[in-house]
Amino acid sequence: MGGTMKIEVENNDILQSLRDFFRSLLEKKAIDAILVPQKLPMKNMVMPMLVTDAKDLSHVDPLAPVFPLNAGRMAARLTKKPIGGKILVVLRTCELRAFIELVKLKQARTEEIILLGIDCLGAFQNRDYFELVGDDPSETTRLFHESVLAGESGAIKGFEIAPACQTCEHPIPEQADILIGLYGVDTHHNLLVQANTQSGEDFLEGAHLSPAASPSRRKAVVDALLKDRKARRDAMFANTRQQIDGIEKLTTYFANCVNCYNCRVACPVCYCRECVFSTDVFEHEPSQYLGWSKRKGMIKMPTDTVFYHLTRLAHMSTACIGCGQCSNACPNDIPVMEVFRTIAHRSQKAFGYEAGRSLDEKPPLSEFREKEFEDIVGMGD
Ligand code: SF4
Ligand code: SF4
Ligand code: SF4
Repeated sequence: MGGTMKIEVENNDILQSLRDFFRSLLEKKAIDAILVPQKLPMKNMVMPMLVTDAKDLSHVDPLAPVFPLNAGRMAARLTKKPIGGKILVVLRTCELRAFIELVKLKQARTEEIILLGIDCLGAFQNRDYFELVGDDPSETTRLFHESVLAGESGAIKGFEIAPACQTCEHPIPEQADILIGLYGVDTHHNLLVQANTQSGEDFLEGAHLSPAASPSRRKAVVDALLKDRKARRDAMFANTRQQIDGIEKLTTYFANCVNCYNCRVACPVCYCRECVFSTDVFEHEPSQYLGWSKRKGMIKMPTDTVFYHLTRLAHMSTACIGCGQCSNACPNDIPVMEVFRTIAHRSQKAFGYEAGRSLDEKPPLSEFREKEFEDIVGMGD
């Protein structure tokens, strides 16, 4: 689809090149607004911002090594109904993949938007970012992207990127209408721009970028990155399976869960309007607690913590895109992402499905095949 183009980089300043590119799109009125990560005016944290004035793009930072929420959900909020304008939505790959799931779950629409993804360099957990970010967050971003693009880990002040990112096998935003490539690109001089869809191609026609060849080393660099990530991911799966093998181990894993439901709130694909855990189904009578305690000698309070996680897994493991926001949100440092990704990998594989891969794949359970799971349901020939 389409050719490849480039955004020129001056003075080795990738962030400034991206800011200038976005500014030119707003000035040319190619779009009415951009949803893009930007440093907050009042705090050293980067959040998605909906920008309509080109003058308000000076702190845009889509390479910041932090994402305090999965912005796929914010993109869904903006597109659920007609917004009356065209928006460029800049997302990380796991945000893009969450958005795709939300479109399929009828929580978002693709009309009126252009999805732009930038090769994802990873991110730290929120609390680590607060510890390591200096007075100038753009400088922290620069240190980080220079390290990652030089083939290093991106660690800053002894902090490593989040476990979800260390094991992420989807850093390349292949599903975006427009992809901006960094891996294997000579980013000291230019950034790769590629249209992946017809609407991306149509949009880029008005951007007047110079054509450029895709760098020959990009494929090898990306292949090596994916090989490393998949090896880490498989080791994480094996370790997690060992830790949750059986109800006793699972209970131990989630022993310090306080049922705050932060992981559910942070999860971009947990979208039910009324979650059973927000109803009074689990508001047990005080006498029931006493009865359970008398039967066992003691019970942990709150109860139902493992049941909560099993319920959530049953509801959304086919849609989990592995962003790690559940772990990011946990006040008690429970590695939630590891369990959800480990289970999701198996449940998605069983359906021949991969969450966030394509808008054209129907989600499991929304369709059935006549000859499906015959070995399980015992209906084989
Ligand atoms: S999980 Fe993957 S796509 Fe998401 S921030 Fe981490 S590296 Fe990027
Ligand atoms: S369960 Fe966790 S890793 Fe999976 S999509 Fe939700 S927040 Fe992201
Ligand atoms: S965020 Fe942590 S403590 Fe809160 S419900 Fe989820 S696992 Fe439990």
